[in-house]
Amino acid sequence: MSSKLQAPIDYLKGVGPNRADLLRSELGIHTYQDLINLFPNRYLDRTKYYKIKELQRNSAEVQIIGNITGFKEIAQKRGKRLLATFQDDTGRMDLVWFRGQKWIKENIKPNTPYVIFGKVNWFNGVFSMPHPEFELLKVHEQNLHSSMQAVYPSTEKSSNKGVTNKVMNNIMQNLFLETNRRFVETLPESIISELKLLSKSDALFNVHFPKNNELLARAEFRLKFEELFYIQLQLILKNLIHKSKIKGVPFKSVGTYFNSFYNDHLPFELTSAQKRVLKEIRHDLGSNAQMNRLLQGDVGSGKTIVAFMSMLMALDNGFQACLMAPTAILSVQHYQGLSELANKLNISIQILTGSSTTSQRRKIHESLENGDLQILIGTHALLEDKVKFKNLGLAIIDEQHRFGVAQRSKLWKKGPSSTLSNENETNIIPPHVLVMTATPIPRTLAMSVYGDLDISVIDELPPGRQAIKTVHRYDSNRLKVMRFMRDEIEKGRQIYIVYPLIQESEHMDYKDLMDGYESIIREFPQPKYQISIVHGKMKPVDKEFEMQRFVKGETQIMVATTVIEVGVNVPNASVMIIESAERFGLSQLHQLRGRVGRGAEQSFCILMTSHKLSQDSKVRLETMTKTSDGFEIAEVDLRLRGPGDIMGTQQSGVLNLKIADVIKDRDILQNARFHAKRILSSDPSLIKPEHKTILNAYREISKYKNIWNYIS
Ligand code: ADP
Ligand code: MG
Repeated sequence: MSSKLQAPIDYLKGVGPNRADLLRSELGIHTYQDLINLFPNRYLDRTKYYKIKELQRNSAEVQIIGNITGFKEIAQKRGKRLLATFQDDTGRMDLVWFRGQKWIKENIKPNTPYVIFGKVNWFNGVFSMPHPEFELLKVHEQNLHSSMQAVYPSTEKSSNKGVTNKVMNNIMQNLFLETNRRFVETLPESIISELKLLSKSDALFNVHFPKNNELLARAEFRLKFEELFYIQLQLILKNLIHKSKIKGVPFKSVGTYFNSFYNDHLPFELTSAQKRVLKEIRHDLGSNAQMNRLLQGDVGSGKTIVAFMSMLMALDNGFQACLMAPTAILSVQHYQGLSELANKLNISIQILTGSSTTSQRRKIHESLENGDLQILIGTHALLEDKVKFKNLGLAIIDEQHRFGVAQRSKLWKKGPSSTLSNENETNIIPPHVLVMTATPIPRTLAMSVYGDLDISVIDELPPGRQAIKTVHRYDSNRLKVMRFMRDEIEKGRQIYIVYPLIQESEHMDYKDLMDGYESIIREFPQPKYQISIVHGKMKPVDKEFEMQRFVKGETQIMVATTVIEVGVNVPNASVMIIESAERFGLSQLHQLRGRVGRGAEQSFCILMTSHKLSQDSKVRLETMTKTSDGFEIAEVDLRLRGPGDIMGTQQSGVLNLKIADVIKDRDILQNARFHAKRILSSDPSLIKPEHKTILNAYREISKYKNIWNYIS
């Protein structure tokens, strides 16, 4: 059986060399197996026959029984189109062909009953059907028809060159005939009976040739479950293997730094979410395995203090810690904030960025290597080879979506040497890694994408935060917006104005930014008003200078590109104006809005747009004005963009899903994950006889990567 499914598609009856080439090049189908795993996009109801009188102007696909009574050729700009009059006992309509007219005229028998099938259009008072499928009624009645007909994915080329949907259905039928409809089961008996799943063979048959809706639903469920089950199994196994193989630096105890900070210096009461996450982290750090944890928390949820307290755990055990941020501005801010806390405990802390001077660097390198320096904050500069730690125990990465996997692994190499050196393996113990992101990823997706990381979530904001009032305003309301700005500045508040910046139209974007800046200066003249500007073309020192003026309250308005997107914390800034808001993605808008609402004052976010808005832009703007829940926003974002655009999904299996959908099938995903976990917790190596099916299937997956290449 296995060998049969691996056979080249050319061998299948009804395929032949030309179609085989098309199947390969257009649809990626090389073998029988690929074909059987080409799942239909949708199904057509072929139980109903319409009368011409019943047709609606909704361009639905319908089948009709009737006769062709005559042909007409109509000249048009290029070539001509062939028109046939088609009629039943209730009326008449047109059939239209733009190609293949000669063949049609020669082969269609006039005044003979046919069943036609296709999409109807309504034009100039007449219904017409372009390029209908048709079959002699006599033949139609003899054939065995599934009441629901599968519609397969196709490309323009494949269907134009003769691999029509009808052809696909035929060759699929031949495949089932040749294989006797029998396929090896790939899920264990226990799951099949517990969830009352269809067998593999029945599921495959019914997904291609459904007898009825109920069987189709069960077939789809079974195949989706299976697909998600094996992805989860893979991810969970990877995580287990990681934990058992990769030893971490053991942090034996919580010590004086942590306790004294917790008891005497904590600037506020931790939220219960922060406490829970700290416990999760503590648990990881206390185990023998290396921590690899993703910390998700909305903007302003208080990740920094969690990071700091995790660092204290490292320091308490005699290890160093580092925190890497994506921009210099953010690094500086972290450095300033954390220095205040560190000083209370006499902890040594330094910052390293691209603009650190040679002598600063030299000092940092030296004190890192001899262990005098306990905490290092910085940008990518931390990754440079020259930066060597004496004993790095914990590396924290803020805003992880800006860093790639390669950078993460560079960090790993900065861990301390193992004393129990192993002959073959490198004797470096990777530091524990905590990755923090403010871009919430819907849980279901996170499970698929980061299934091999452990995930913590801060799902609660510190108390006393006021919701940010968010409104959408058109450019034509600009005067009112200016007046509002003046009033807020009068009250002593500060304002951000952000302009989009995308690579493709960088030039135009800078022009917009500078024009905007000019007009703001005109509206808000010196010396009464002071204005900062920050954008990516400025030198880091200049950027920082301008930023600092704003942080210190010397300027009231900060005009910027998205440089300020991440992490900047200016509690007195209470108004965020986003220009051309329609050009930003949802998660970016949410990030930007998170820059305000950090102080005690009521904060505002104003989304400025032109009147020309696409449907998606409208949804994004409505979502922003309606909710401030990052997870809810992430869900909408995911729905609008699909998982493909979300960082990190590229490497995971979610993009290659053939039948399941991470958004729509999240219940199945949860269910599949539950079962995969349960099986692995009772039998992590899959050695029990009842798990043989899984082991076999799993081995096949690892061999083929694409999980659908294993049925045999
Ligand atoms: P983010 O998760 O976006 O990095 P921060 O760590 O910068 O958020 O925290 C945002 C603000 O909230 C900071 O000013 C911080 O001091 C404050 N904060 C954090 N945790 C709490 C808490 N439990 N109670 C009160 N304020 C808090
Ligand atoms: Mg932060």
